Amino acid sequence: MSTKRGDAGSDGSAGSAESAGSKDPAWTRRRFLGESLRRSRAIGAGVVLGPASVAFADGDSALLGTPVVAREAGPPHIRQRRKLGRTGIEIPDISMGSFSLESDVDLVAHALDRGITHFDTAESYADGRAEEVLGRALVGHRARITLTSKFSAGPERSAKEQMAVLERSLRRLRTDHIDVYLNHAVNDPACLASPEWQAFVARAKREGKIRAAGMSGHAGRLAECLRHGLDAGLLDVILVAYNYAQQPSYRENVRQYLSGLSSAFDFVSPQPELPGLLARARAAGVGVMVMKTLRGARLNDMRPFEKSGRTFAQAAFRWVLSEPAVEGLVVSMTSPAMIDEYVEASGSGPPDAEDLALLARYEARHAATTCAIGCGDCAGACPAGVPIADVMRMRMYAADYGLPTTAAREYARLDVDAAACLGCSGAPCAGACSAGLAIADWNRDTHRRLA
Ligand code: SF4
Ligand code: SF4
Repeated sequence: MSTKRGDAGSDGSAGSAESAGSKDPAWTRRRFLGESLRRSRAIGAGVVLGPASVAFADGDSALLGTPVVAREAGPPHIRQRRKLGRTGIEIPDISMGSFSLESDVDLVAHALDRGITHFDTAESYADGRAEEVLGRALVGHRARITLTSKFSAGPERSAKEQMAVLERSLRRLRTDHIDVYLNHAVNDPACLASPEWQAFVARAKREGKIRAAGMSGHAGRLAECLRHGLDAGLLDVILVAYNYAQQPSYRENVRQYLSGLSSAFDFVSPQPELPGLLARARAAGVGVMVMKTLRGARLNDMRPFEKSGRTFAQAAFRWVLSEPAVEGLVVSMTSPAMIDEYVEASGSGPPDAEDLALLARYEARHAATTCAIGCGDCAGACPAGVPIADVMRMRMYAADYGLPTTAAREYARLDVDAAACLGCSGAPCAGACSAGLAIADWNRDTHRRLA
């Protein structure tokens, strides 16, 4: 695979914008709408529902002409709350993630002020400081908010050890219970099959320390783990990486549109069974929350194209929140302005043509330079055992999310980092990336940045 699609020498965001910018189509609402409708008719896969709505053969639909629901004047505020499966827990459609929350109590207060009442954290975030900050910020508000926290409980972790971790989280969060407690970043069904994890969950529920349990995941074996958890009835809630680019009908629609404009785009199809598994989970009463909804979150690259105050992030949120299986999304928020931008999308309805054009533009600029979270096609390609997808994710945190300190901390947690790449020819992993990324170059650069 050509290395021109991976720009190892530059920041992923700026580099991709430069490299793909010249290929951007002149997006207009009329053009996108017209093309989408024309193609749906031409291939016989679509049924025109209304003046600007298309239903695809797989049951998915795109409400191309539905206007986004305008909000009232004043600061943005959460406008929609949803039941989380059968847990009895109610969450806002947009929840605050605390991945990089180090000290900013005021930021949490701002989120509360905007109506956010569900906060996602993990014992590992900021080495426990994220839980501490949430605990401080939420004093006096506990009765009206709900919490998710997580711990990576591999099969080697005893129930006793897991209980000790939970109790430390409870102390940091200054609460006697956590509403949703997830086995974190599960990428092996053995984590769920573990009798120790199951015994821990049963005891923690019995003692009122957690209300619901489940798994989070964003790696290559996500679908396999979800299937196992659903088959065995082990999940009350799931939190999984999911965004617009993972829905086959969306990809196909945009792929067809883009194919006439450039041959450089190739839509990776990580885990095509994921939408079906989310629908199955929802049907079974499992709460479905999603993350990584911004597909790398190279937000600044999109600013020049965001008109009328409409942003790429809001478009991506509207897309994922209009998926019938999805009950809510979790996203890291690092500034009051970011909170306001994100909350603006709450309850604003499905994406319209302008939103879809923004999403397609993002793909046009970034698809060829983005490691697809949840892909994992390169697993096992490195004889030195470098976890390529994990290294790519740390790169995303640093380069795309703009969180170099958090990325470096997470990078240091890896059992194996990319140090071996510095002295390696790169031959073994050349061509291993289904998206055509130059793994060796990117890994060397990531190691130099984060080690
Ligand atoms: S460059 Fe070498 S060490 Fe690094 S991931 Fe590729 S094969 Fe492994
Ligand atoms: S590096 Fe390529 S193959 Fe590996 S997870 Fe990322 S997109 Fe998939």
